[in-house]
Amino acid sequence: MKRCPACKRVENDDTLVYCRADGTPLVSDSGSVSAGAGTVRFEELSVRSYVPPYNIATVDAALGDKDEAFAWLDRAYADRSFYLTWIKVDPQMDSLRLDPRFADLMRRVGLPQ
Ligand SMILES: [Zn+2]
Repeated sequence: MKRCPACKRVENDDTLVYCRADGTPLVSDSGSVSAGAGTVRFEELSVRSYVPPYNIATVDAALGDKDEAFAWLDRAYADRSFYLTWIKVDPQMDSLRLDPRFADLMRRVGLPQ
């Protein structure tokens, strides 16, 4: 298992050299995964099949990991994900609403605030 020193992302594929989120060289980690385990499983799945970044963001939001959630929402934005048109009414986004990054994302998506 490897870990990204920049975003703390965990990679279970030891053949990976760089973080798939930000390109930072990964470091080996023999510790256990706890809080982010659900996210990690989603990310493992995303290696083999397409998982919308928005769905991963909802898991991070539920876990209270706002930095990861916004990182995945940025990827959803970069992908022009249609899911982003739901952020204003999606209850899964409630924990992120008060963060200034949420207003910024709404503005970029073009939703009225
Ligand atoms: Zn990273």
